[in-house]
Amino acid sequence: MIPAAFDYVRATSLDDALARLAAGGGSAKAIAGGQSLLPLMKLRLARPETLVDIGRLAELKGVRRLGDGRVSIGGLTTYDEMLRDMTLHRYGLLADALPNIGDVQVRNRGTIGGATAHADPASDMPAILLALDAEVVVRSVRGERAIPIAGFFQGAFASALEPDELITELRLPGGREDLGSAYRAIEQPASGYSIAGVAAIIGARSGDRWGFCSVAITGVGEHPYRATAVESAILGGASFEAAAAHACDGVTVASDIHADREYRAHVATVQVRRALEAAAARLA
Ligand SMILES: Cc1cc2nc3c(=O)[nH]c(=O)nc-3n(C[C@H](O)[C@H](O)[C@H](O)COP(=O)(O)OP(=O)(O)OC[C@H]3O[C@@H](n4cnc5c(N)ncnc54)[C@H](O)[C@@H]3O)c2cc1C
Repeated sequence: MIPAAFDYVRATSLDDALARLAAGGGSAKAIAGGQSLLPLMKLRLARPETLVDIGRLAELKGVRRLGDGRVSIGGLTTYDEMLRDMTLHRYGLLADALPNIGDVQVRNRGTIGGATAHADPASDMPAILLALDAEVVVRSVRGERAIPIAGFFQGAFASALEPDELITELRLPGGREDLGSAYRAIEQPASGYSIAGVAAIIGARSGDRWGFCSVAITGVGEHPYRATAVESAILGGASFEAAAAHACDGVTVASDIHADREYRAHVATVQVRRALEAAAARLA
């Protein structure tokens, strides 16, 4: 439970942090809230030579509305700060998920940038970002790029992020009045991580057909994914229950001491139906 020796520097600005990460050549790592990185270091599953503390960079904090109507969440914004931000209250799926992530310490320290960069296959925020079709804005000494969330998560703890890049913002669509959203999860009681967590957005109804459906699932596959077969079934007129049966189509369902493959797949199906029902109820 004692990390290997490391150097520690506190970044004084975003540019300072980026320069230090670039100079580290892969052996330097950013630390934000430390809620994922420190446990890994204590288990010696991560052994950075230098920790670059970005925790006090005010320029990476906060929620603001962009000129094009989208909403930008700074990479260092904590779960608790998101919970208290009025701009985000219109996102039903965030209101559902945020109060249940970890405990008070995790919500006070853990950041949306850290959760996204860490790319834990059972983390809640990645499913929400996928359902919302968010954009990940990253910076390095080479400049800035915007990565569509659809291609961001590439495997368990693997993402499109380069070692010297920092997530500066997550950009969400502004939110439409004709869409409802919800998040439903069955959690592993000891850690709070999802055995299956589902983010759903539905709406734009015309007659008896839904015109929009987005469903993303965490905790089930190698990485969080969009359940496109569920979405197609809904848009094709299937009931929530029939569509939910496609929750794990094309996915190798994980199996571990908390949930075997069959149980986890069943939980995913149930949670997809519940998330769709809850999202649709918010439209009423
Ligand atoms: C007891 C416990 C319970 C938890 N329960 C849940 C839960 O129920 N649901 C859930 O989803 N999560 C849960 N978590 C995980 C938690 O959400 C994450 O640990 C946290 O959000 C990570 O953010 P951080 O700022 O602490 O990241 P850190 O631990 O500081 O960093 C994590 C990784 O991200 C990198 N990083 C950090 N910030 C950036 C950035 N801006 N740009 C690029 N890279 C960056 C770091 O280099 C490191 O590799 C739990 C954690 C704990 C300890």
